[in-house]
Amino acid sequence: MTGILSFDDLKSQAASGAIDTVLVCAVDMQGRLMGKRFHVANFIESSYEETHCCNYLFATDLEMSTPEGFASTSWQQGYGDYVLKPDLTTIRPVPWLEGTAMVLCDVLDHHKHLPVPHSPRAILKKQIARLTELGFDAMMATELEFFLFEKSLDEIRKGGFRDLTPISGYNEDYHIFQTTKEEMIMRPVRNHLYAAGIPIENSKGEAEAGQEELNIRYAAALDCADHHTIAKHAVKEISWQHGHAASFLPKWDAKRVGSSSHVHQSLWQYGTPAFMDKHDELGMSAVMKHYMAGLIAFAPDYTYFLAPYVNSYKRFSKGTFAPTKTVWSVDNRTAGFRLCGAGTKGIRVECRIGGSDLNPYLAQAVMLAAGIKGIEDKMELSAPTRGDVYEDAKAGDIPQNLVAATATLRNSAFLRAALGDDVVDHYTRAAEWEQEEFDRAVTDWEIARGFERA
Ligand code: ADP
Repeated sequence: MTGILSFDDLKSQAASGAIDTVLVCAVDMQGRLMGKRFHVANFIESSYEETHCCNYLFATDLEMSTPEGFASTSWQQGYGDYVLKPDLTTIRPVPWLEGTAMVLCDVLDHHKHLPVPHSPRAILKKQIARLTELGFDAMMATELEFFLFEKSLDEIRKGGFRDLTPISGYNEDYHIFQTTKEEMIMRPVRNHLYAAGIPIENSKGEAEAGQEELNIRYAAALDCADHHTIAKHAVKEISWQHGHAASFLPKWDAKRVGSSSHVHQSLWQYGTPAFMDKHDELGMSAVMKHYMAGLIAFAPDYTYFLAPYVNSYKRFSKGTFAPTKTVWSVDNRTAGFRLCGAGTKGIRVECRIGGSDLNPYLAQAVMLAAGIKGIEDKMELSAPTRGDVYEDAKAGDIPQNLVAATATLRNSAFLRAALGDDVVDHYTRAAEWEQEEFDRAVTDWEIARGFERA
């Protein structure tokens, strides 16, 4: 029982007793799986057609609160229902849970049965459709970085998130011995995901104590986002099963490097790489240059979707491999965009801005929109930068905090045209709310700084 299951496969797994539970899930604004656990008999009989959820699920924050100011739903409008429409091409086993399968859903309006515009899956599908009209397919890969901790999530939460000791004692970048000590978690992560039809390439130690990276083989954009979401969920669940915490918070310690999610991108046409031109010095086609020009020019507009929380911006600091500049370079890890696989069939651009907390549907959608704009307007790509880009005074900056990124999002004519005003207004409100919540908090830092000395 491996890989994607057809509906008939699911029926026979149910008949044999191999599967008794189906997770029927949507992906929320934060990139989390939200939904219900169905008895397989009910799913096969009726719920495979549709089920429902409260529409606040797409107008809430990490805490599940109900902020004012969203046009799509509110207390006044009575928080009605959305339809969860299972996408039956995504049925797969969940091998780390007994007797369980999963299906991902599209989110539809309850009355008209049309896609909910601000649903992350719908936002990505819309940009993929635009790309299809231009004659291209997008192949994407999103890397997952995260930290593993000695204690469990429950112990850490009950302890007030204070005693955060990573699972290993020193920088484990590419370190085989150190990561062998984490194999009780990482081996089932790789193998269970592979058995769930997610093409895992490898896992490796990253550049901090307790930091791991999981790499998944590139895939069509929607599949890539589905893979990322399920893999992140699996890492958390499998770590939890073993009594350890996994965290995708980008920056949990100011003195340590943060966790990112780099996004590799290439366009293809009739199965051949549209980014490759073997006559070009670096092997880059005109399409690739236009795409990258759009990607770079509009990076400040869409940074919010790569860094959606207050904490996300703490990652962007000099000398940590996290970028601060909107420039590109050839295989140079200090720039926001890196050309990889120059001169080969695997030629692609890697965006290094995104944090481990990004929602892969939203991140890919806005970058595809930027690339499409670059292609449509035949935008010109500047020359690559060289050396330590952190010190390049001429290079453009990415927004340095959530307030700045919210302003560039709110005022982005490009994103309003590509995603729609309703979608931009919805996410602008989510961004504002996140900052408002932070501004209401009294932080440890303020107390330590001023308690005695103010
Ligand atoms: P790195 O040195 O950044 O870890 P890798 O060679 O491991 O680079 O590749 C990183 C990711 O890029 C992998 O997930 C891989 O599947 C993906 N990738 C390879 N070729 C392409 C491509 N043509 N388009 C998009 N992603 C690709």
